[in-house]
Amino acid sequence: MIMSYRLEKLRQILVEEELDAILISQGENRRYLSGFTGSAGFLLISQDRAILTTDSRYVEQAQAEASTFEVIRIQGALSKWLPPLLSGLYTQRLGFEGRDVPFLTYRELTGVVGEVSGEISLVSIEEFVESLRAVKDQAELQCLEKAAAISDAALEEVLPGVQPGISERELAWELESFMRRNGSEPLPFDVIVASGPNSALPHAKPTNRAIRTSEPVMIDLGANVGGYFSDITRTICLGEGDNTFHRIYDIVLGAQLTAMATLQVGMNGEQVDQLARTVIAQAGYEENFGHGLGHGVGLAAHEEPRLGSNSSSVLANGMVFTIEPGIYIPGWGGVRIEDTVALEEGRARPLTRAKKARR
Ligand code: ZN
Ligand code: ZN
Repeated sequence: MIMSYRLEKLRQILVEEELDAILISQGENRRYLSGFTGSAGFLLISQDRAILTTDSRYVEQAQAEASTFEVIRIQGALSKWLPPLLSGLYTQRLGFEGRDVPFLTYRELTGVVGEVSGEISLVSIEEFVESLRAVKDQAELQCLEKAAAISDAALEEVLPGVQPGISERELAWELESFMRRNGSEPLPFDVIVASGPNSALPHAKPTNRAIRTSEPVMIDLGANVGGYFSDITRTICLGEGDNTFHRIYDIVLGAQLTAMATLQVGMNGEQVDQLARTVIAQAGYEENFGHGLGHGVGLAAHEEPRLGSNSSSVLANGMVFTIEPGIYIPGWGGVRIEDTVALEEGRARPLTRAKKARR
């Protein structure tokens, strides 16, 4: 049912864009449209056919998972198997995912097009499937909620027991193993634990540094349920933080809560970003918030919509995305607070809900 609905939506876009068929190569898009979770294969979709091509390793799995698709076993180069399929589809304008297709595959594609009788033009398309993926249905939302609950539990169960002296790597492993033991599939990204000055790097890798009292400790993690991810950051301090920590923490939290309370359906990504950026700028830390406010989360850890300067993504009900302002001060450290939220009836409903105390 869901897959047929998604195909129908895509086919509407094909009509609007005057494409006869589309070749889908991007992994999450392939999974989203077909249900096939294998790591190799193409979808070839026209108004009346939906074909999944894959090699012998995945044929059985594809047949089981992608019941709305004709599964065709392929072997060897694209230049061998694609021309006969295209001839059968009477394609004149073929869309392909220009962002995903490597140059060598593109060169093969242009060769293929030359071989097929009749004129075929290749059209690079962007964000077709991504824009469909941005709005989640109920089944997707359930996975996202479960993933959020697992990452919340990791923070709430593991952090209270953390003592000074534990290394960033040890803490990252405790959090990761907690999530895996509690139902997460392979994590969407490596857990970030960054302490003291290391937390000034928004995407620091955990090191052997021992965590001390009175310094910021930034923890960013996500769980994976059914291929859907959560994404949450908390910044804590063991013992009493210094005045800088308290001040910065309150500004970042204020920026996050302001954005969550005031964002609205119909705003574009830049406008949402500004809601939080203004709070941080008014406090004098504009230069210390170098990344965008947030990003969509789903089958990918970063997807549509993008919230940041120059983002034209427009917020719609059903979108799931993060709100993650941060302030980073070189030499001292940083504070980021991130939640994954769902936009419902015009308002942001937090999916991640681990407490935001400054402990
Ligand atoms: Zn994150
Ligand atoms: Zn994030």
